Amino acid sequence: MSSLFPALAAGSNRQALRFGDRCLSHAELATAAGALAGRLRGADRVAVWATPTLETAVGVVAALLAGVPAVPVNPKTGARELEHIVSDSAPSLVLAAPGDELPPRLAGLDRTDVRVGIGVGTGDGSGHGAPLPEPSAGSPALVVYTSGTTGPPKGAVLPRRAVTTTLDALADAWQWTADDVLVHALPLFHVHGLILGVLGPLRRGGSVHHLGRFTTDAVARELAAGGTMFFGVPTMYHRIAEALPDDPALSKALSGARLLVSGSAALPVHDHERIAAATGRRVVERYGMTETLMNTSVRADGEPRPGTVGLPLDGVEVRLVGESGDEITAYDGESIGEIQVRGANLFTEYLNRPDATAAAFDGDWFRTGDMATRDPDGYVRIVGRKATDLIKSGGYKIGAGEIENALLDHPGVREAAVTGEPDADLGERIVAWIVPADSEHPPALDELARHVAGQLSAHKRPRELRLLDALPRNDMGKVMKRALHG
Ligand code: ATP
Ligand code: MG
Repeated sequence: MSSLFPALAAGSNRQALRFGDRCLSHAELATAAGALAGRLRGADRVAVWATPTLETAVGVVAALLAGVPAVPVNPKTGARELEHIVSDSAPSLVLAAPGDELPPRLAGLDRTDVRVGIGVGTGDGSGHGAPLPEPSAGSPALVVYTSGTTGPPKGAVLPRRAVTTTLDALADAWQWTADDVLVHALPLFHVHGLILGVLGPLRRGGSVHHLGRFTTDAVARELAAGGTMFFGVPTMYHRIAEALPDDPALSKALSGARLLVSGSAALPVHDHERIAAATGRRVVERYGMTETLMNTSVRADGEPRPGTVGLPLDGVEVRLVGESGDEITAYDGESIGEIQVRGANLFTEYLNRPDATAAAFDGDWFRTGDMATRDPDGYVRIVGRKATDLIKSGGYKIGAGEIENALLDHPGVREAAVTGEPDADLGERIVAWIVPADSEHPPALDELARHVAGQLSAHKRPRELRLLDALPRNDMGKVMKRALHG
């Protein structure tokens, strides 16, 4: 049995997975996944039809036990992107739950159904056939496609060591143990929901309860029923912040949770503060990406600071590199540089993309494409993405993030995104894309510009206002800025 999951190997009878009212103990999971792993021998790569179900979790664990890289596929992927992912990753077969209907591109592959017997008893953890040899730490565990926020998704090849390194560093930072019960409502085809949300609890010997679908009621109910942690994306915390004033049960449940974690995109300061005011709890923010798994986090015993993603995790080196290529050593909260990371948490390559892989590295440092400053005590403050969030206006370098935070703080603003548009005078001018709180009475540009200039400084005020009904977001709730211009 794999050293990735000691509790599986030990045949623990504690609950491991719960999806709705279906659950498996670690021992039952060892049996189900062990049997399936035996059938995956010899495959080069398996696609997993990643619905939010027990079958997906069992399928991925089986592939890990078999040492066959798993490629989780978003069931809502459009035909064009699916074609790209399937032809790029060339899986030898696809794992799906019995009865799942697959789109034509996947239906053409060999299919193996994941059968999960509930209450199949314990013991017999090795599955059928001879025990599978333990793959090496450098061998690929998963190929996970990036979210496609800035371009077509790229397949990041993640070695087993990246998975264990990141999960153990998070356990250290978050004091994550076998007693933790994670409340989970994220999709299972990205790092956040799959590696942190499913493999994390399994590696700790603890458990995860997947809600199927996010609702604030379900989160409140499951935290009150014994959940200790909740992992969410900022759009979920936004909905929580909106619901809290009228929902004492939600407020009580969040107050009682051991740890609330946000990641995948920046958590607006306004939502962080509203949740803190209503529950007394501060959401812990962490920063990571498909290629690097987790890089930084606020520690469970540390000081959550709104607008920051904490400190480098154990084993991860972080540096900021300025435009000239020089490392920025000043921790002054002002000097902006690109975040570069180095450590055992990194991917090995983009699948079939030696050009993109080479361009992404400076020696063994990975260029994240994210820009940040550091507070005097080292806390990392993400300013935004180099490609879309760094605006050069009137001789200044301005991060979209702080302007978005300032705009969200205005009562007339429900959602905000800031971009730079070519401008003859300024180089780029700051444009605010706003979803108004009240569409009948949207705020005026003057009013928003004054509000921003009052909080930040005059050169950071938006020069143009564009009103929208909703911001274009992907399945993780990330704003797709490239679609704003499209
Ligand atoms: P693509 O690489 O295909 O354009 P993507 O970068 O959104 O898509 P992911 O790997 O899922 O794909 O996301 C990683 C990115 O998410 C990071 O590079 C960063 O920009 C953003 N991110 C993650 N966590 C945070 C956070 N806590 N605060 C701000 N940004 C974050
Ligand atoms: Mg990316």
